[in-house]
Amino acid sequence: MRNTIPWAEPTLWGREEEYAVDALRSTWISGGPYVDRLEADFARYADARNVLAVANGTAALHLAYLGAGIGAGDEVIVPGFAFMAAANMARMVGATPVFADIDPDTWCITAETVAPLITSRTRAIVPVHTYGNVCALEPLLALGDESGVLVIEDAAESIGSKYRGRMSGTIAPMGTYSFHATKTITTGEGGAVTTGDDALADRMRLYRSHGMARTRYMHEVAGHNFRLTNLQAAIGCAQLEQIDRIVAKRGGVWAAYTTRLQAMPGLSMQKIEMDVDPVMWAVGVRLDPAHYPQGRDAVMGQMDALGIETRPGFYPASAMPHLYGPQSHLPVSDALAASMLVLPSSPSLDDARIHRICDALASLAG
Ligand SMILES: *Cc1c(COP(=O)(O)O)cnc(C)c1O
Repeated sequence: MRNTIPWAEPTLWGREEEYAVDALRSTWISGGPYVDRLEADFARYADARNVLAVANGTAALHLAYLGAGIGAGDEVIVPGFAFMAAANMARMVGATPVFADIDPDTWCITAETVAPLITSRTRAIVPVHTYGNVCALEPLLALGDESGVLVIEDAAESIGSKYRGRMSGTIAPMGTYSFHATKTITTGEGGAVTTGDDALADRMRLYRSHGMARTRYMHEVAGHNFRLTNLQAAIGCAQLEQIDRIVAKRGGVWAAYTTRLQAMPGLSMQKIEMDVDPVMWAVGVRLDPAHYPQGRDAVMGQMDALGIETRPGFYPASAMPHLYGPQSHLPVSDALAASMLVLPSSPSLDDARIHRICDALASLAG
């Protein structure tokens, strides 16, 4: 049995261990100077005005909603196909997630799919930049402006991806990132929120740490504890030092896959528009049932037997009616979710492994 090719691997290639040990020895293991440094370094990297490091990408979304004052009775428009943290955190603050369908090619929501869903209760639109692609933001931001609705980018999967030359997550008034172990840079668990609005940043700082600002033990709001630890931030600082190398490696993996997969019948890949300069976090392929009559789930089992770990696309909102309501059927999201899988996407993949994966996929076509 050959070694299984994992779906993802962290890129701890730099000074992660050195900085983590330094944080540990300093005894600053909760808050500490690496947190400030990570915020400053990430702000410089992304060209963001305010960066708040937080415990994870889900907390980042939760904090963004709290900072924006989103709560009971409000509606938040999220994609019907994506990782569902943006929908779940809407629920968590008492708001209602409303699902927009995605574009069949880019796999992202668009102003066209979102516009008909805007009501007097809509408070936010959350474009999720799925797999590292970036949603067509300009029309979404225009729609937000017209309708007085805040746009919050969920850039958890698109760290380093650019839209018209600007970093995803910094283009809308607010953006969120995840530093989970599988993401483009990692702190184990971790994340960040960005905003160009200083008042919003101040409100989020309050909610991030118990609602305390000026006076210890004096709670101005019923805040949470969403803080990132100094130990984790130390790892993040080392990750950021080598982000250009990670991004270059990811670019090479995406290019190698694209060359092979585009030439194979029965498969299609996510479309990247001209406005987007992507750092692809995951390589998704859609299977044409005429070439893969056994179906996606069977293909995943066959890949597994060949020593290749794959993941399904996300389950769409309609697969979880107990959570998201019976009205969440969306034709494009549902069809994509049923027919796609995600191939191993680690930046440490070499060409030989990428060929082995593509050969395996080709061998399974009927
Ligand atoms: C990973 C991810 C999150 C959640 O991040 P965590 O750090 O795991 O909490 C949120 N949104 C999207 C789109 C993600 O991919």
